[in-house]
Amino acid sequence: MFRTTFFLIFLFFSVNPISNVYAAEDESALYQYANLFKYRNDASTRFIEKTKQTDLLTANTAVARVFRFIYSHAQSDLAEYSLFPHISEPTDADWNTFKELDELYYANAKALILGFIKRDLDKLIRLKKEMIVAGNKAAIAQVSSVLSIVYLDYEQDSLNALAELLYALPEIQPNMNKAVYGFFYDKELVLFHIYWILYDLGAYESSYQYGKAYFALSKETSPELISSADYFLMVMLASQLGLFEEAFAYSDEFLTKAEQGQPSDQLYAILAKVVVLARRNAPGDIEQALKLLSLSKPDIQREDWNAIDEARALAVNAMEAGLQRNVSKAYQLISDLKLLANDPAEPFHSVDTKNLTELERFIAEYNLDSELAAITSLKLVQHEHGKLLNALNNRLDSLGREMQADIELVNVEKMKAQNITQRQAIETANLKTIILLLVITLVATLAAWLFVQRRRTHHLAYTDPLTSAPNRRFMFNLLAKAFAKPRTGNCIALIDIDHFKRVNDTYGHQTGDEVLVACSRVIRSRLRSTDQYCRYGGEEFLLLLKEISVPKAKDIMDDIRLSLSGINKWQSTSANFSVSFSCGLVELSQYNDIDDAIAHCDKLLYTAKNKGRGRTITTSLENDIVVNPLQTV
Ligand code: GH3
Ligand code: MG
Ligand code: MG
Repeated sequence: MFRTTFFLIFLFFSVNPISNVYAAEDESALYQYANLFKYRNDASTRFIEKTKQTDLLTANTAVARVFRFIYSHAQSDLAEYSLFPHISEPTDADWNTFKELDELYYANAKALILGFIKRDLDKLIRLKKEMIVAGNKAAIAQVSSVLSIVYLDYEQDSLNALAELLYALPEIQPNMNKAVYGFFYDKELVLFHIYWILYDLGAYESSYQYGKAYFALSKETSPELISSADYFLMVMLASQLGLFEEAFAYSDEFLTKAEQGQPSDQLYAILAKVVVLARRNAPGDIEQALKLLSLSKPDIQREDWNAIDEARALAVNAMEAGLQRNVSKAYQLISDLKLLANDPAEPFHSVDTKNLTELERFIAEYNLDSELAAITSLKLVQHEHGKLLNALNNRLDSLGREMQADIELVNVEKMKAQNITQRQAIETANLKTIILLLVITLVATLAAWLFVQRRRTHHLAYTDPLTSAPNRRFMFNLLAKAFAKPRTGNCIALIDIDHFKRVNDTYGHQTGDEVLVACSRVIRSRLRSTDQYCRYGGEEFLLLLKEISVPKAKDIMDDIRLSLSGINKWQSTSANFSVSFSCGLVELSQYNDIDDAIAHCDKLLYTAKNKGRGRTITTSLENDIVVNPLQTV
């Protein structure tokens, strides 16, 4: 019975015409199908025409099944052509056949399906291990590249993406000749991703180094793929690192390239050059930068004035104001520009928003230059940043070597004992993966540390050490923003503690300090979440009260004063006393700039002192709640 069945099956296959289609699996079909990737992004008709030159639609082979599955998912608009009638998922047997034909193509096709069609991260990691066991470095690098994109796009995990990219980098080929664009990952793409991820992580120096490698390679192989955004960032980074020769070289290339590009490319190219000139700031540089800006202003008379022209005018004017140290105007224009760029109805891109942030950073940095303290703290940050990044880089460098080690270890295991099961080899690979994960964790910790350090330095630069209140510089930034917007309904109040010298003289400086801390604490606890304050000077505090009428603002000030006068016990002295303050309060809309508003506030404060202290004076109201200054209980 068994024999007969076997015979019948045999007969069936040999006489059925389908058996002719059962062509032997061969490599040439595989390369033919893979070549179709070149046309994948073309119009569907062209792809279909090319497909029909192969037997992809009819062949009943493992390789054809795999490719049909990929194409049916990759080309969503093919469905309407009913091009692939019977799509079944490739079986394990199909994959085995595929793998025997060509391991590299197998790894790529499978990674593509697992990464972008199935989005199965676990299986993708398993595929990578499989290739580690096979010792196929090119294949591992390809799978790692797909993994990195999955981490980046679906998991928003840029650190794991970075680790995979660095792992792939040493073994991945530049734009291989046999490579079919879109099917194989190339070195240019890997470098491109590393360049942008490091930039997003704030690792500017490393970002620049990888950017350099990306540019050098792409210029040889596929210069058309280097985008405006790539150029813009490169110029910003080089100039920020003080590498002006390089910055000018990239900037000039950018300008030449932009001539054939969109009008927005030309604008970015000009802005980039302006930044380099301003950052170098050699004699004549600022004049040249301003000249470039005025030449690139769009013609307001134009009839077909559109959002792009508007953006262009705003950007150019913002930079001009920034260079002329008109900070509040520059910020106002940039914030208008941001509004425009974020408007979904207008033709802008997320990269535009990123570029805007770079411009904003530049304007802030350029205008802080006049403050010696700012320069010092900036240099400090950069120094500390540099040290930490070195440590980070050393860890990143060693990732490339990990791959070599992974493979060697597995091979040694395989050679040592043919009788040891593959399972054990996989476990070894698992162990190495754990080590790799530890390294990744270390990198993540370092990055987090870096982040905290940066936050801490930022905190130190903007906080008064005695009272922990924000300092003047912090407030100045806020006020610049408040002045950039419509100002109606925002108030500022300047307060000065009454007879504070007497507190110092009577109870000592330490007690004076304690009073300052208490005063800051009371202000903080009484302000609404939208308000801000700072220690303005010795025993003076400046408050910004948002969207509030003058009488309501005055109520808050009275509340703060009453609550402060309720404190009469101090840690540094057994004496019981309480303090009050005098206050001037104004609404911002009546003033053209911050200095005018503060000056008037100061005048009202002086009036409050003259009227006997312990009160708030506004322009309109005189019915004050008065607290007796310096009460001894
Ligand atoms: P009034 O404001 O009512 O006119 O009198 P006042 O005593 O407060 O006069 P003034 O504002 O001129 O004095 C401020 C004093 O504050 C002078 C300075 O010694 C003291 N001071 C400034 N900073 C600190 C500080 O950080 N700690 C202490 N303990 N004292 C400070
Ligand atoms: Mg004073
Ligand atoms: Mg005082």
